[in-house]
Amino acid sequence: MDDPSKIAYKIRDSLYLNITNRCTNTCDFCVRSKTQFVKGHNLMLEVEPTVEDIIKAVGDPKRYKEIVFCGYGEPTLRLDAIKAIASELKKKGARIRVVTNGHGDLINKKTIAPELKGLVDSFSVSLNTDTESVYNKACRPEFGMPSYAAVKEFIKTCVKFGMDVEVTCLDLPGVDTAKCEEIARSLGAKFRPRHLGVVG
Ligand code: SF4
Repeated sequence: MDDPSKIAYKIRDSLYLNITNRCTNTCDFCVRSKTQFVKGHNLMLEVEPTVEDIIKAVGDPKRYKEIVFCGYGEPTLRLDAIKAIASELKKKGARIRVVTNGHGDLINKKTIAPELKGLVDSFSVSLNTDTESVYNKACRPEFGMPSYAAVKEFIKTCVKFGMDVEVTCLDLPGVDTAKCEEIARSLGAKFRPRHLGVVG
């Protein structure tokens, strides 16, 4: 428990950036409520790291296949930080992915994809379920009812702006994975099923 919290942590060939512990969902299945460790890394931040701290924690991004903005939290809550860091890392040849709950437009009260074009190569968006009702029950979004439709819209917009988008869904009770895949494809995205409790 006296492990210092990690800003940057490596999983396989990728470097993950833990830029916030805040989130606009309160998912039943969120690992944050069970442990502060992911793959042995303490991800519970005492304070949110600065842009400079994060860039320093990355070092040379070319040592990794990709740099992934992630959590323990929702990275688009720090849109300006993502833009500043991605811009620096791109100059050093990085490939950038953002793992998100898809609330970025709701959080920032604007369409964020155009601002991230050229900075972010790909998104992994947690749609999680094939229905709004199961989503609202399992993820308890801060933005309420409009959230599920907004996540789908976010996916569509990112695809439209040329980003590579992967939609993930979970094998939760009441979730039809085949329907999730159908939704992902209809939005122009790729699909990756995820298993409950498996991170990274
Ligand atoms: S969206 Fe991710 S970080 Fe946020 S509560 Fe759900 S599982 Fe946790």
